Amino acid sequence: MAFIFTVVALSSWLRLTLALLTPADFKGIGGAADPSFFESVVEFPPWLASLTQRTSWPTEANPPFIRTPGLDLSSGIPANPLHQQVTACVSQCSFDCNGCLGPNDIAACSQLLQTFDDGPTDATPALLDFFKSSGQISSFFVIGTQVLAFPDTLRAEHQAGHFIGSHTWNHPYLPSLSNEDVAAQLQWASWAINVTAGIVPRYFRPPYGGLDDRVRAIALKLGLMPVVWAHDTNDWRMIEENRTENQTLADVQSWISTSSTGVILEHDRAAITVNTGMKIHQMVGQQRLAAPACKNAGAPWYQ
Ligand SMILES: [Zn+2]
Repeated sequence: MAFIFTVVALSSWLRLTLALLTPADFKGIGGAADPSFFESVVEFPPWLASLTQRTSWPTEANPPFIRTPGLDLSSGIPANPLHQQVTACVSQCSFDCNGCLGPNDIAACSQLLQTFDDGPTDATPALLDFFKSSGQISSFFVIGTQVLAFPDTLRAEHQAGHFIGSHTWNHPYLPSLSNEDVAAQLQWASWAINVTAGIVPRYFRPPYGGLDDRVRAIALKLGLMPVVWAHDTNDWRMIEENRTENQTLADVQSWISTSSTGVILEHDRAAITVNTGMKIHQMVGQQRLAAPACKNAGAPWYQ
């Protein structure tokens, strides 16, 4: 059965990958999930049915915003213009447009710190095995729909002591979404992670680095703080374009030669990026920090 699920997920993933090519971060995973697939794998629990008045995981491209007690989107959120990726950068503090960091954003770190986005996937277990053999922990920002597709892998990730953060429900560019749709992306991802691994994330990484003060404010209302990056491996270009592993490793070497500090963006989306991640690990050395510890040492990882 696991094989069938994997095939369904992979075909969906490939279709979406081809449909959504854009110029930064990983663009493939996203869009509507296959309801039969998720219903078969991860239960939609009664408490979530009661909270959401739904009976199954969302299949819409934009999952529905759920009004919950104490969550007020009517105040305290800047009225920034919605915009698409890259095409309409605005002057306020945007990470992807102008590298601006908010007071809670994590990008700097006392060491070069690997982080992996877009999983879990069928490539993730090899990375977990690798870290287990070397006694290391790492940081994973997981997509809600992927969590439901690979729940055992998320549980293994958590049980091995790795840090888990949210990477939204299905990987949209958040500055292009309404306040309610941004909140919904974060709500459903947190619920998928909670139902699967029993934890509620306290940190999130915005897909494509799409982060402005409006997104920050909405996320904070949901108890989520941003983790972005100081160094981009552009490893996804090894999958979708002609970037070579040597080019990626040369970039890492330059970071080691200069400051040797800061959060590194990688992806456990495919075997090729996972394999490169293992080589990067050999270069940057031991990793015993989780991403939150780069800024908030000792603070809890989860809500
Ligand atoms: Zn991503």
